Amino acid sequence: MPSLVIVGTVALDNIRTPFGEVHSALGGSAFYAGLSASYWTDVGVMAIVGEDYPEEGFRLLERHGVDSRGIARSREKTFSWTGEYTFDLNTAHTLKTDLNCLLSFNPDLPAIYDRPDTLFLANIDPDIQLRVLDSLPVRPALVVCDTMNFWIENKLAELKRVLARIDILTINEGEARMLSGEFSLVHAARKIVGMGPKTLVVKRGEYGVLVFGKEGIFASPAYPLEEVKDPTGAGDSFAGGFIGYMARNRKSTDEILRQGIVIGSAMASFCVEDFSTRGLEGLSKTVISDRLASFSTLTSYPDLPPLDAGMKG
Ligand code: AMP
Repeated sequence: MPSLVIVGTVALDNIRTPFGEVHSALGGSAFYAGLSASYWTDVGVMAIVGEDYPEEGFRLLERHGVDSRGIARSREKTFSWTGEYTFDLNTAHTLKTDLNCLLSFNPDLPAIYDRPDTLFLANIDPDIQLRVLDSLPVRPALVVCDTMNFWIENKLAELKRVLARIDILTINEGEARMLSGEFSLVHAARKIVGMGPKTLVVKRGEYGVLVFGKEGIFASPAYPLEEVKDPTGAGDSFAGGFIGYMARNRKSTDEILRQGIVIGSAMASFCVEDFSTRGLEGLSKTVISDRLASFSTLTSYPDLPPLDAGMKG
C-alpha cells in the first residue's frame, strides 16, 4: 500500500519553447508528480490513458517504482495538452486541450487503495476530484489539491466544493489571482484560505514559491539554473517532491512542510532542465543531495547583528 496516492492526468503533450519542441511527449499532472514523488516515498498513480498511449510511459513509471495499477486504459485517445512558452518561461500558453478519454474517467480509488494516508488531487477536472473524495470510506490524514486556469474558468462551482474539503492548495501565481479576484498575493491568500484550505502554496515559476499558512508566510527561491529548456511539469514536479516528503514523514508540522517545500523546489529544478520528463528520470541520490546542498547555500545567511550594532547613527 503506497503512502501517497496521486489522482490526475497522464498525457501526451505537444510543447514548444524558445529552445525546441516535442510532440506526443510523456506528460500529465499525475505523471510528473508521480515520478518526482517516487524519489521520496511509495507512490501509486490513478489516471486514464487511451489506446494511443505508448508502453514506454508504463515502463518509465515501473523503473521508478511507481504503482500504476490505478491507470485505466480506454479505447479513446489519451488526454493531450498543446502549449507554448515565449521568452517568459513562467507563463504557459495553452493552445489546445483535448480531454479525450478524460471525459469517461471514473476512478475507483478504494478498489485499489483501501485507505491512503496522503492523497494528492493533482490538476484534473474538479468533478473527478470531488468523486474521489466522496468515494473514500475514511478521509486521508492529508489531502492536497492542485488546479489551473482551465478549471477555474470552466468549473468554478465544482472547484470551490473541492477547496472546502482539502488541507493544502498548490496553485500558480496568476491562477491565485484569478481564483480570488485579488492582485495582492497576500489578499489573494486570505481569500483562498477562506475557501477551505489551511495552507496555500503559490508557485511563482523562476521566482520560487510562497507559502501562506497558520505559521505565517514562508518563501523558497527557485534554483538559479544555467539552462532552462522546458518549464512544463515544473509545478507538478514541485508538488510531487513536496507531498512525497510530507507523506514519507507522516507529519504535517511546520518544519516538515518547510523542508518539503525546499525538496519540491529542488525536484522542479531538475524537471525544467530538459523537455518532457527527461530531466526527472533516473536521478541518483548524490545528484539530488548535491542540489539540496546548493539550495542550503543559496538561502542561508548568518544571524543579523542586533539593531543598535548594525544600523547607522
Ligand atoms: P505544470 O506542472 O503546471 O507545467 O503542468 C504540466 C502538465 O499539466 C502537462 O504535462 C499537461 O499534460 C497537464 N495539463 C495541462 N492542462 C491540463 C488540464 N486542463 N487538466 C489536467 N492536466 C493538464
